Amino acid sequence: MRLLEAIIDANHRALAGDTNAGLHPAEFENELPLIALTCIDVRLNSLLPQVLGVPQEQFIWLRNAGNIITGPQSSTMRSLSLACAVKGGKEIAIIGHTDCQVGKTTTMQLLERLRAIGVERHMLPDNLNEFFGMFGSERQNVIKAAEIARQSPLIGPKIPIHGLLVDVESGKLDWLVNGYQAAETMTTRWNEFVKSAGQTVDKLKSLSDFNIGEMKFPETKIGETVTKAEDWVAQKVQKLEMKPTTPPEPPTEKTPFTPPRIPLPPPIRPKVHLRRGPK
Ligand SMILES: [Zn+2]
Repeated sequence: MRLLEAIIDANHRALAGDTNAGLHPAEFENELPLIALTCIDVRLNSLLPQVLGVPQEQFIWLRNAGNIITGPQSSTMRSLSLACAVKGGKEIAIIGHTDCQVGKTTTMQLLERLRAIGVERHMLPDNLNEFFGMFGSERQNVIKAAEIARQSPLIGPKIPIHGLLVDVESGKLDWLVNGYQAAETMTTRWNEFVKSAGQTVDKLKSLSDFNIGEMKFPETKIGETVTKAEDWVAQKVQKLEMKPTTPPEPPTEKTPFTPPRIPLPPPIRPKVHLRRGPK
């Protein structure tokens, strides 16, 4: 059983009253730490990472309003990428939650509330919905974020990217996007991408004394290379977008999706007891 399968299984068993349900972190050394992107909702403060059964020291927690990923090169993607590359995160879970106010607030309400804190309409970007990432469905928002993250060149195919929804009342987890499945199809696409990028480098090499070692910027800190890194990423994204096998659009409300079936697991030795949510 893989990490997320075990997490979901333990979560559902705990909710069903199994007091022995829990995750044994030692069995998942190769799949932890887990990186999570969640909303800023304060109700999540006490809910996570307990409902996952993941120990705090194995839980890398990123938050933004609405657990939104606005684009493959967004600030959140940068943090997710570094969480993997620098902090050793092995899997990513984008975790939406029920009753999210970012999803419930209409554009008119948002404008009123911004005005109440002294922000007038003319001070704001034209496309409010796009800028603030307002959404109508928590589930679709998670699925969309997982799609964008999966397509981002900043996350390699070895990192599964899951989509979950947590019920803030009960702590129940719904597995909306199975990152293990997506990673398999992505690996093929990624290999094509790397191959074509390699061909480009070969062409550059033939034109000049291009030294690939120079791309490492060894003397500079991460923050100082942002501009160059963005250029690099922009080129890669452009290449990805130019490919005829462009990744599919994020699913719309109409697209049906089937949550994965959780295989019946062998008994798990209890270690981390899940906190049961209020009834
Ligand atoms: Zn929220």
